[in-house]
Formats: sequence, C-alpha cells, structure tokens
Amino acid sequence: MPTWPNQLYIDGTWVDGAEGRTWTVVNPANGSTLAEVALASPADVDRAVRAARQAFDEGPWPRLDPLVRGRMLFRLSEKIRAKIDELALTDTLNVGKPIRDTTGFDIPCAADLFESYAGLPDKIAGKCYGTLPDNVTMQFREPMGVIAAIVPWNFPLTNAAIKLAPILACGNTVVLKPSEVSPLSALMLAELAHEVGIPAGVLNVIHGTGAEAGSALVSHPLVDKITFTGRHQTGVQMLEAAKIGMKGVMLELGGKTPSLVFPDAPIDHVVNGVITGIFYNLGQVCVAGSRLLVHEDLHDDLLERIVAKVQNLRQGDPTDPSNHLGCLATPQHLATVDQFVEGAKLEGARCVQTGTRSSDPRNCFYPPTIFDRVTSQMKIAREEVFGPVLSVLTFRNEEEAVRLANDCDFGLMANLWTADGTRALRIARHLKAGRVAINGGGALRPNVPVFGYKLSGIGAELGYEEAAHEYMNSKAVIYSLGTEKSPWPE
Ligand code: NAD
Repeated sequence: MPTWPNQLYIDGTWVDGAEGRTWTVVNPANGSTLAEVALASPADVDRAVRAARQAFDEGPWPRLDPLVRGRMLFRLSEKIRAKIDELALTDTLNVGKPIRDTTGFDIPCAADLFESYAGLPDKIAGKCYGTLPDNVTMQFREPMGVIAAIVPWNFPLTNAAIKLAPILACGNTVVLKPSEVSPLSALMLAELAHEVGIPAGVLNVIHGTGAEAGSALVSHPLVDKITFTGRHQTGVQMLEAAKIGMKGVMLELGGKTPSLVFPDAPIDHVVNGVITGIFYNLGQVCVAGSRLLVHEDLHDDLLERIVAKVQNLRQGDPTDPSNHLGCLATPQHLATVDQFVEGAKLEGARCVQTGTRSSDPRNCFYPPTIFDRVTSQMKIAREEVFGPVLSVLTFRNEEEAVRLANDCDFGLMANLWTADGTRALRIARHLKAGRVAINGGGALRPNVPVFGYKLSGIGAELGYEEAAHEYMNSKAVIYSLGTEKSPWPE
C-alpha cells in the first residue's frame, strides 16, 4: 500500500490545516477509509495564495532560464514514471478506476504531459509587427502570475497534470485544489515536485471542499487567473468569482458526446469504439460517448452486437487487472446516475441492457446500462449523466443526424463513423463540437488543444500555442526610431 501525505503543501512545506480539521478519504469499492487528510480553511487558502504571489513577484521561477525550468518539468515526468505503480494504485483505490486504466493511461499520460511541456519554455516566442519604417513594434509574452487551478475526481492525477504542466512551463505559480473526493495522488505529486527542486511557493496543493476552500481560492484578490475543470453549474460560479479583480477564466466543462454511425461504417470497429466511448471509466469522462445516433438501417444489428459484447465486460474489484470496469466514485454520484436511469424509464425509453446492483450501500458498483428508443427531448439525451448509461437514437439521413447531434446544450466532442471521407469532413464542419473524431481515435494528446462549444467551456486546454495564450500575458512595446518631434502641440 502506498504511503500518502496527509497535510497541505504550502510554500514548500507540509502543514496541517489552520483549524485542525481533517477529511476522510474513502475507497468507493468497499467503503473503507483510505486516509484522513487535512482540510483547508479560507485561512489556509489565503496562506497558499500569498505564498504563490510572493514566489511569482520575488522568486526565481518566472525569471529562470527557460531551459532550466523545462529540465525540472522533465525530471518531474521521470519521477512520475518511476512511481507509476504507486500512483496508479492510489487513483484506483481512491475513485474505483480499474487498475488496467490507471496503469495504462492515467499515470503515463500525466508523465507524458510534463515531458511534453518540459520542451515548451524555450520555444515561447513573441512577435514583431511590420508597421512604419521608423518604428519597431514588438509583442512580448510574459508569465501571467498566480493561477488558481481547480480539478475534478474523474482522472485525479491526469487532470492535475493537464493544468500544471502548461501553467508551470509558462512560468507561473499555482495553487492547485484537487477534488475533495480524490486528493491523494495530487499530494503525492507535490512530494515529487519538492524532490525535483521546484522552488517553494511555485506549486501549492491544498485539499478542501469546493464550497469552502475552492470558493475562497477563486475569489481571492491576489489570484490572476482561474482555470477550472468540472460541471458547468460550478463553472458559472467561477465566472461570478472572476468578477473580483477581473480575473481571467478558463473553463473545461461537461459534454454529451454524440456518436454518429452511418451504414458504411466498419461495424466491428464501431462496436468497440462505442463501448469504450461510453463505458470506459464507467462513463465518468467529459467526452463520454453517451448518445449513439445510428442510421435506422443499421440500428438492430449494431445494438445487438453492442449488447452481446457489453454482457462480456468484466466488472469488479478495481485493483484486479483482469476487470474492465470498476465502480463509480462516490455513493452520492451513484444516486445521481440512478436517478437519471429511473427517470429515463419513466420517460418511456426502453432499457435493453442493465445488471444486478449490489445490495451493499458501501460499494459504488453500477452496471453498464443501455436505453433504446430515446428521443432528443428526454432528459437522458440532454443532460450529462457522467455514468455508464448509453442512449440510442436513430436517424434517416445525414441532415437529421447532424440536427440530432447539435440538438444539445453541450459541444465538447463528437464521434463520426463512416467509410465516406467526404461525408465525414462535410459533417465535421457542421458539428458544433470542439473535437470531432472520425472512425475512432480522439484520445488526449499533450500537443492537441481541447476546445469546447456552448456549455462545454471557455478557452482551450493544452496545445502549446493555446497554452501560451491562456497562461501568459502579452505586451506590445512600441519603439519609435524617428527623431522628428510630433507637430502637435507646436
Ligand atoms: P464539480 O464541478 O462538482 O467539481 C469540480 C471541482 O470544483 C472540485 O474540485 C470541487 O471541489 C470544486 N468546486 C465545487 N464547487 C466550487 C465552488 N463553489 N468554488 C470553487 N470550487 C468548487 O465537478 P465534478 O463532479 O467533480 O466533476 C465532473 C465534471 O467535470 C463533469 O461535468 C465533467 O464533464 C467535467 N470534466 C470536464 C473535463 C473537460 O476537459 N472538459 C474533464 C474532466 C471532467
């Protein structure tokens, strides 16, 4: 069993919360206690923000040779890789993700992010504008300041790395608040950052609730920018908080990804893609493919194949590498998912796949569930369930497919399955989504930005140019080479 830090990491040191309170971190697979972790109060948040402010205003980090800054991030990536097993087990125990996923994706991806962004600092360039012959106008990029980073529990370490790698590469200081549900791997990351010598105050990790520590952090007047990943309802609160001091805001919010399947699609590939798209991490993925839009000619065959394959998925102990599916992250989240499922039945959707639920209230296992005959007016087709629930709708032609796909308040991602490349690109242009995956793929890559249309967000996560835009200030410097006086006020 890994050993977990259980204090707050502020200004390069481990401290208890000012009020001495702690929070019980629970294993959702069996309800057992994993750790008691210090809980940050607004006083701790204030300390962390002030430490980050001082480290930015007076410390070495924003002023370091970019190569040196990059080297530290690279060393951090190596530290993460050296601890893959411990970090993977931590996130698996903490949120019920299968160990095959945390070992195969979450932790390697976190290491990849730091490795990739280690190469960014010395590549950030400004611009020079060609204006008048006797004028030189330059645009400089400068680190932005103190960033408040708030992340959810669905990919605990990966979500933290998605924020921290670009923020730190761009020379900022940061206060990270992981979800109260899943603080352990973020605290371990702080230990690793300390070991590689990231200076005190540059990275602060505080564990606390959203309502108390989160809200104190984002409304703190010494914060320059809020970067948030979570539900769109919480995103609205970020916009409110940003008013204080007119902070910058970047929001990565929910999704309701449609998967459009045309009759010429490679069907075996589609079956696997749809199943992975919605049941990977039990649908607790912002880009979960929760709406299957299938051409009516293919509907029966595709659904039959999907159901048959889903019945062979192995669900159980998340630490067992043979299991495809673990459990949901908390009993509260399970209750929310279940409400959606019961609501869909009442609205007339037809449940074609489910399973028996455990009677033990301490575990959060929820079976993969599929609803057929869903209409786009139903709640299950409009709202983000964030659970293992697939809604199936049919279309008759391309226009209807696009209309159904866009008939949704979210626009994070869309999947498209067809052998007709021209149709694929034509539809991709019409979809209101920040990412379109054609015939599979679509996995997170450090260099590819994540965009969101509609309620799915503001700004872009990752992507080098986009990261520099999000986490650096730009300044125009206008230099006159002329020697003649201005005619006015003569
Ligand atoms: P959430 O909004 O409830 O919480 C996210 C974080 O915000 C947590 O750390 C929480 O403590 C904090 N928080 C809550 N209230 C706050 C407040 N008033 N002030 C400051 N912080 C506050 O989201 P969740 O349920 O933890 O995560 C699931 C959501 O995250 C889903 O909607 C999912 O789609 C989204 N998500 C989006 C992406 C993306 O890249 N677009 C990635 C992962 C998850």
